[in-house]
Amino acid sequence: MKGRVAVVTGSTSGIGLGIACKLAAGGADLLINGPGDARANEALCREIAKVYGVRVVFGAADLSNAEEAIELIGHATDAMGRIDILVNNAGIQPPDSALTSAAKQWDVTIAINLTAVWLTIRAVLPQMLERRWGRIINVAPMCRADAENKSAAQASKYGVIGLTKDVAVDLAGCGVTCNVICPGWVPSPHVSTISNDAKGANDRRPKTRRKTPVGELQLSYELKAPDQLGSLAAFLCSDAAAQVNGVALPVDGGWFGR
Ligand code: NAD
Repeated sequence: MKGRVAVVTGSTSGIGLGIACKLAAGGADLLINGPGDARANEALCREIAKVYGVRVVFGAADLSNAEEAIELIGHATDAMGRIDILVNNAGIQPPDSALTSAAKQWDVTIAINLTAVWLTIRAVLPQMLERRWGRIINVAPMCRADAENKSAAQASKYGVIGLTKDVAVDLAGCGVTCNVICPGWVPSPHVSTISNDAKGANDRRPKTRRKTPVGELQLSYELKAPDQLGSLAAFLCSDAAAQVNGVALPVDGGWFGR
């Protein structure tokens, strides 16, 4: 991946940070993105750059805002000269239901989880197509009928899988691939928003573990998950994965296999 430039959205924590670090470990220069304290984010950039010996810049785009999502791609291209890899990882999962969800919350969830994915893909594609090389990786849960109280998140993530397949088919043969990585249960700030606090995330663990065939081993899976998801992303960015296109790859300890 040396010489490649990757943009990873929502990469200041959790799965996005795990993916960003694996791409950096492979030699890719990075733009990382996320909300939060500017000084802390700049410090994170310096740390990743020091550990992996790559160039790292920060893009503070709020992906609920369409203009900022498009500008993120422009900013990364200006700062790094090019973008070869786009990882759409940013996402939120506020608790809601189709009956009670407020329209504003629905709109924000769809904007971050789905519209920003479309906008960044649309903004980055011209340069990837010109060079006839690009990797687009989206992150979405393998949607399940048993998801509870997540109507906007479910709707948006189904949309991400559909969009991914559409982009992959449209671009087949152009040197650009588009795939989805589908994590299982990964404790992260995102998961804690399901119940609005970390205790809620912990309360969900036993239930999730029962559903996951690896069972108690799930704990060790949890601890390694961002790293493992990052390794899969790195594989998808390799030339060996040139024919892997338009697929949703579960990394969920066998949960979806049930
Ligand atoms: P996380 O909360 O650590 O990561 C989400 C990231 O998105 C954060 O870095 C956050 O800053 C960023 N983000 C949120 N709103 C944003 C905005 N308006 N603009 C820019 N960035 C924004 O949680 P995570 O679990 O690492 O989630 C990462 C992705 O993985 C999400 O898309 C989520 O749907 C998906 N996922 C997570 C799990 C899980 O169990 N954790 C399972 C399946 C899928």
